[in-house]
Amino acid sequence: MTGTGFVAGTITFSVVDGPGNRFAIFLQGCNFDCVACHNPQTIPHAEGTHFETSIDDLLVKIRKAAPFLSGITVSGGEATQQAEFVHSLFTAVKADPQLGRLTCFVDSNGACPPSTWASLDPVMDGAMIDLKCLDPDIHLSMTAQPNDEVLASIRQLHAMGKLYEVRLLLLAGVNDDPALLRRTGEWLAAIDPQMRLKLIGFRAHGARPHDPPLVEPTPDQREAVADLLAATPGATFDICLI
Ligand code: SF4
Repeated sequence: MTGTGFVAGTITFSVVDGPGNRFAIFLQGCNFDCVACHNPQTIPHAEGTHFETSIDDLLVKIRKAAPFLSGITVSGGEATQQAEFVHSLFTAVKADPQLGRLTCFVDSNGACPPSTWASLDPVMDGAMIDLKCLDPDIHLSMTAQPNDEVLASIRQLHAMGKLYEVRLLLLAGVNDDPALLRRTGEWLAAIDPQMRLKLIGFRAHGARPHDPPLVEPTPDQREAVADLLAATPGATFDICLI
């Protein structure tokens, strides 16, 4: 049991962090360094700082909002960097008489070993995984890390029945090549032809400056990517575009 974690912040009601209305917990520390990160202040690991938060304190906050919640979601930073804390938090929520009905989700960049998901499986109801790019070299340029663990996580979570959604970030001119996106659709369809996909168009507001500047996809470009993925042979993806 890990009774404290490093928490960058919480949102009492979120409708974008999984199914329904959710209490979202953003953990401090990430193993990626994404060029398009909107929360770069959550990247540094923060042991021994004011970010330290107890599970008891979080439970007090969650109980206050519980009547209006479908569940809780632990996000980041990168949630799986504090997997023991996440496990302890989910265990405590499920054991709490007032909170036991809430679902417990993880929002992750997917870069963790299979043992992390195996350990979370008994207490986790679902996971949303970011796939920044199927191409390993482009992924490296976008995140400073390889994507092999991300791809393995998507496969593993689907096999466990815990993959709620895959999130695809669209960065104009970086990861939106049609041939690459067709391959991405085929790779995802081979795992689950009915996969729930969320296409997230990069928004410059709030992201770090970059040289050359990162480019937002236009609404037409985002629609075109959604259409391209929807046309993946044999797939009937559930696609949401934001
Ligand atoms: S995985 Fe998320 S929190 Fe981590 S650097 Fe990338 S965008 Fe930022």
